[in-house]
Amino acid sequence: MTSTTVMPGGRDVDTMAIDRLPGVVFQLHRRHDGRLHFPYLAGGGVRLIGIAPERLARDARPAMERLADDDYPRLMAALERSMHWLTPLSTRFRLPLKGRGVRWVALRAQPTPTDEGVLWHGMMMDITEQVTEEARLRRLSDTDDLTGVANRRRLMARLEEAVSLSNRHATPLSLLILDIDHFKAINDTHGHLQGDEVLRAVAHLCRATLREEDLVARMGGEEFALLLPLTPRHRALSLAERLCRIIEGHDFDVDSRITVSIGVAEHRIGGSHLQLIERADRQLYAAKGEGRNQAMADA
Ligand code: GH3
Ligand code: MG
Ligand code: MG
Repeated sequence: MTSTTVMPGGRDVDTMAIDRLPGVVFQLHRRHDGRLHFPYLAGGGVRLIGIAPERLARDARPAMERLADDDYPRLMAALERSMHWLTPLSTRFRLPLKGRGVRWVALRAQPTPTDEGVLWHGMMMDITEQVTEEARLRRLSDTDDLTGVANRRRLMARLEEAVSLSNRHATPLSLLILDIDHFKAINDTHGHLQGDEVLRAVAHLCRATLREEDLVARMGGEEFALLLPLTPRHRALSLAERLCRIIEGHDFDVDSRITVSIGVAEHRIGGSHLQLIERADRQLYAAKGEGRNQAMADA
């Protein structure tokens, strides 16, 4: 067993303990001219970097150059901030590690000013499993269990984002609200489980008809919202009409035909996401009133 106790003159013991750490302990120095180097690098993770520590002691660039495109400027900006305000550095980035592929690495460090620049004392740890788990949980909390499309929460977040983009850049944006016709009767005749299958199939047909950048979400019950960025009213309406025909013509494996009604609204620049939902909703109820199995858009 290796003792981790720091003892006077006990450097060998310390070094052995540090070499077993699952990560990297470092000093990073930034000179006034902007050049970076690692005067000290230790820990089990050092060999995974795959660059000789002696080389990095002279110049940190070979390690920095490996960062994924947008991680490099992000790390540099974090370093600048930490140096400028002498605040702790806390960031994460993707780094290809020897024999392990691209891994997520967390970095924490404390800056100290020196005569020649700034010196950080810090640690790096592989947090890939944690990042993967975070992404899985985020996906779960954004997804409708039954159909696998986005849930209402995700819809509202994306809708707010899209509306604010459209307001800023005056780009078109349309929303469709789709409701299955007489769905209660489908449940009553074929049972709730068969009703669930119909919901899944409708979600799938929406997804298959739309572009990758469009969002399909289940708003609740048998109601779906389709968010179409960069799409003006006339294109949204013709897409909605096509969707009505596709669903009407699809074999759902139930005796009766299944149809949907769709309300369409194009965002008015300056308006809110709630107004957009309300306008699409009003058109949906107009479509129901006109006999269902059709799409209607407001002026
Ligand atoms: P309309 O044409 O006017 O839309 O009539 P509708 O019968 O589709 O509308 P209504 O709102 O009366 O009924 C909706 C039904 O959807 C009632 C509810 O039991 C059913 N429903 C809601 N969520 C689910 C679900 O997750 N699974 C199933 N199978 N049914 C659901
Ligand atoms: Mg309905
Ligand atoms: Mg409904």
